[in-house]
Amino acid sequence: MNLNVLVLPGDGIGAEVTREAVLVLRHVAEKWNHPLTLAEGLLGGIAIHRTGSPFPEETACLAAAADATLMGAVGLPEFDNAPPEKRPERGLLAIRQALGVFANLRPVRAYAALLDSSPLKNHLVEGTDMIIVRELTGGIYYGTPRGIFEDGGETRAVNTMTYTRSEIERVAHTAFHLARGRRNKVTSVDKSNVLENSQLWRRVVCEVAREYPDVELDHLLVDNCAMQLILNPRRFDIVLTENMFGDILSDEGAVLAGSIGMLPSASIGARKPSGAYVGLYEPVHGSAPDIAGQNKANPLGAIGSVAAMLAYSFGLTAESAAVAKAIEAVLASGHVTADLRPSGTPATTEQVGQAVRLAIG
Ligand code: NAD
Repeated sequence: MNLNVLVLPGDGIGAEVTREAVLVLRHVAEKWNHPLTLAEGLLGGIAIHRTGSPFPEETACLAAAADATLMGAVGLPEFDNAPPEKRPERGLLAIRQALGVFANLRPVRAYAALLDSSPLKNHLVEGTDMIIVRELTGGIYYGTPRGIFEDGGETRAVNTMTYTRSEIERVAHTAFHLARGRRNKVTSVDKSNVLENSQLWRRVVCEVAREYPDVELDHLLVDNCAMQLILNPRRFDIVLTENMFGDILSDEGAVLAGSIGMLPSASIGARKPSGAYVGLYEPVHGSAPDIAGQNKANPLGAIGSVAAMLAYSFGLTAESAAVAKAIEAVLASGHVTADLRPSGTPATTEQVGQAVRLAIG
């Protein structure tokens, strides 16, 4: 299979972890004989410096031409007080929108070697293995009217939560489809006791579920879900939810895994006729200016994003599993970066990347 990938390293540690992720991708492509075409583009702060825009036109063209995009992270402290359209983070929203990626997938796994890094008791978190599927382009973050208005001598802020049937349907199909490759269970999360949006959400998810009779569906109210993620995270396989609830729950899920540097993510859109998804893959973490340029960053979130890309965009499940297994082997070896190793001599970003390649074989 021809792998046609755009790489957007971005800012700070984004460039460092992406370098290692790309070396792993090259290694996999060579080992399994997949021709690999790599293009590199600008996004975020580095793009503002070079072109004046956080998401230059050239990057938009490169992304449209690629089958999948691997991103590092964006953000530079010097832009902290810049207007929103001149901030590196605007590039993120712009590329998600340009690619039409409407479902954000955040795998949450408790690795045996990292159980002690989780703030939860080992017996609660052990065996946790879920994917949070968050609707990414609708809901209250995008609804209008929005704004802060002067209204009869009072200042009023307005946001609008809005969903259409088709927006719910397409992300629900993504969740049920993913469940079929796993433990066949979807937990849909809403606030249907209060919100009409959630009542439509629940109705449409139930309708979609009829097309997947082999997948078990249950529903949780979002407040209860927040509690169950801590009390009994093993009960979850696929968690399906709308944009804002997913934003909050996925950060809660992130804590279960130990370090933010471990976490990959995938943002996917429609399926192509080949069965592959249009996809944007990136670690969950930011550009970490506090450790940038020191060869200290944990590259496993970025490398895990390569595993996700291989599986979702290219359907290469054996190759993806080999990368995931190599990550697990490196964690078990204890040769890990400082965020996972509070004492002793930590490994560098480059050493961890090299260890993953060696473990793939
Ligand atoms: P951050 O994720 O960059 O860092 C938070 C903390 O986690 C820091 O102490 C950092 O050193 C540590 N950390 C993060 N990734 C790590 C890794 N791979 N290995 C080891 N330690 C790691 O979040 P922040 O400090 O709030 O944000 C810094 C910048 O990144 C800001 O400009 C922010 O807007 C941006 N940001 C970008 C993204 C993205 O590109 N998707 C996401 C979050 C934040």
